[in-house]
Amino acid sequence: MPSSSNRRVGVSRRRRGVVVVGGGIVGLATAYRLLEADPDRPVTVLERESRVGTHQSSRNSGVLHAGLYYPPGSRKARWAVAGKRALEAFCDQHGVPVVRSGKVVVAVDPSELEGLRRLAERARTNGVEVVELDADQVAEHEPHVSAIAGLWSPGTAVTDFGRVCEALAAVVQARGGRVLTGVVMHHLDDRGEVVRIATSEDDLEADAVVVCAGAQADRIARASGVDVPERIVPFRGSWLRLRPDRAHLVRGNIYPVPVGGGLPFLGVHLTRRVDGEVWIGPNAVLAGARDAARPWQVDPRDLAATLGFAGTWRLGGRHLDVAAGEVWRDAVLRATLRRVQAYVPRIGIDDVRRGPFGVRAQLVSADGALVDDFEVRGTGRIVHLLNAPSPAATASLSIGAALADEVATRTG
Ligand SMILES: Cc1cc2nc3c(=O)[nH]c(=O)nc-3n(C[C@H](O)[C@H](O)[C@H](O)COP(=O)(O)OP(=O)(O)OC[C@H]3O[C@@H](n4cnc5c(N)ncnc54)[C@H](O)[C@@H]3O)c2cc1C
Repeated sequence: MPSSSNRRVGVSRRRRGVVVVGGGIVGLATAYRLLEADPDRPVTVLERESRVGTHQSSRNSGVLHAGLYYPPGSRKARWAVAGKRALEAFCDQHGVPVVRSGKVVVAVDPSELEGLRRLAERARTNGVEVVELDADQVAEHEPHVSAIAGLWSPGTAVTDFGRVCEALAAVVQARGGRVLTGVVMHHLDDRGEVVRIATSEDDLEADAVVVCAGAQADRIARASGVDVPERIVPFRGSWLRLRPDRAHLVRGNIYPVPVGGGLPFLGVHLTRRVDGEVWIGPNAVLAGARDAARPWQVDPRDLAATLGFAGTWRLGGRHLDVAAGEVWRDAVLRATLRRVQAYVPRIGIDDVRRGPFGVRAQLVSADGALVDDFEVRGTGRIVHLLNAPSPAATASLSIGAALADEVATRTG
């Protein structure tokens, strides 16, 4: 895993360069884009963990989203489409595996047909290729699916975003950037021409700072003077693993028609990953810790922040039925399975095992709405990426390009 052996983190005063806080996929993609835009400007990434990409960036479904779902014109729609293209090219160039397996979104009930039709319309508005399928055509793509209709997305692919992080870090370092792992950013002080950065190692100075801190984004922004009435609320997503000798039941990606109702989660789906393993999930339940290493881990400060925030309760009140269903299915494996059996009936209880989990960093507004789009805010020479939920891994190189542009604007 790339990390700098140079623990002296001071940056030349002549040209201080840009510091990126957070060595997840978006922070690393931002460093990559900053170096692309100006190869002579020093770039330093600070990652508090001992490796890059250990949080959301390596605990996800691994799907390169084609861009079907997102509101036309939104950052998600524009940056997922362009970002996926750029990331696939990056992976091909740097030996990161991409499997172009496509995906079917399946309707199992006539009540879902309207949702499927709307999804096709939205995909086309976003410039994403989709093909309507009847039941027989669904079976041609996924022989073990039982559905009345479907939508085929040939552009959906899978990769290993953890490996993407490693490759990005290696390229950043090869181009003269520094990726310092095990360094915690404690405090940012914008003094006009220069930003002072207090870290767990030496202090730094930079011309500009970009913060891509995932689950800590709102706290860091608030501490550096940005008005953030919203709060990051952590949602755990857990997967089931299909037994390897049953993996043939799934060829690519199989998704239900999304439920809608203002929730961005895509429903329990099946994903054949780059290593051939099939994961089922993820669900979405409140997490007790923003950076949880175990599914039931509780960080008292995080839990107090979540439960002490009116937006959490308003969100729960608005989607009580969905929230209760998610908690129920989280506890009762058979309940999750029933969801999946609705469209892949041959998967039985003995075919699945509990699998890994990831924690989504989701910005929630005080009125209880999930902030849907990617959100960038800043003051002076500090830029904060406040909301980067899925498909931010797919879109990382586009987000990084936008953040690099923002730095150029702010530093003249
Ligand atoms: C369950 C789940 C499934 C998902 N599936 C998909 C998918 O299939 N496709 C897709 O495109 N996206 C998916 N996503 C979303 C995607 O993983 C995230 O949007 C993306 O990884 C966000 O990257 P990031 O760099 O912003 O955050 P992170 O990966 O969380 O990185 C933030 C980094 O900042 C560091 N940091 C924080 N504070 C400090 C500090 N003070 N000093 C130094 N470092 C600090 C952290 O240690 C961390 O490494 C999924 C996410 C989850 C949780």
